[in-house]
Amino acid sequence: MKIGIIFAMKEELDALKVYLNILNEYTLFDLKFYQAKLNNIECILVESGIGKVNAARTTQILIDNIKVDYIFNIGVAGGVDDEVSICDIVVATNLVQHDFDITAFNHEKGYIPNVGKYIPCDEYLLKLAESVDKDLKFGTIASGDIFCTEIAMGNKINSKFNALCVEMEGASIAQVCYLCHIPFLIIRSISDTLNGNNQIAFDKFLSISSKKVAEIMIKLISRLDIVE
Ligand code: SAH
Repeated sequence: MKIGIIFAMKEELDALKVYLNILNEYTLFDLKFYQAKLNNIECILVESGIGKVNAARTTQILIDNIKVDYIFNIGVAGGVDDEVSICDIVVATNLVQHDFDITAFNHEKGYIPNVGKYIPCDEYLLKLAESVDKDLKFGTIASGDIFCTEIAMGNKINSKFNALCVEMEGASIAQVCYLCHIPFLIIRSISDTLNGNNQIAFDKFLSISSKKVAEIMIKLISRLDIVE
């Protein structure tokens, strides 16, 4: 089995890389891929860059050129719900693009023709995640091409989409996987909570929250191996 793991940033990738024995590195379309093997699972790690377009094109390359069976995206996110605090881990049950807006045509905010509004993560991978750690939180993750800082924006995304956290890639990875019928799972650790100045918390907690989610990912890969 071959899995692709997408990271928006180098810090997030490095946090997982330390747990793996990298066997090979190669570059494709200016993206650097790292190949590792954990038990029986071939893992392909790649840094996509920040934002929905970078993440979407990386997902398509993993599907078309690397022919992965599953896609994961792990990294950090900003908390927008009282239920989540810094360093908590959120597993996306589904994802939505909070900046997708064709409401002028009487569609709901976030609704994408031929795709829908919420895209669910793979049921089997969600079940597997449930068995990995009892403290994981499950809920909606909202993505958009904005580093969100304003409390009002966080409250709006929380109430409109029922989202636990916001980030900038997950829902675009979900959209490509959905359209290509590839099972996927998105897991994020909270690096900041929106307070008007959360880029400071983001910088402070990026590495520790990346480590937390990397540890969960390693456990998850081991479970994949057991059930395969
Ligand atoms: N420091 C980087 C920019 C980071 S953007 C630079 O200068 O280039 C924030 C990244 O972390 C994105 O990949 C996004 O997915 C995630 N993220 C964490 N907190 C976020 C928030 N409050 N709003 C949106 N994305 C957030």
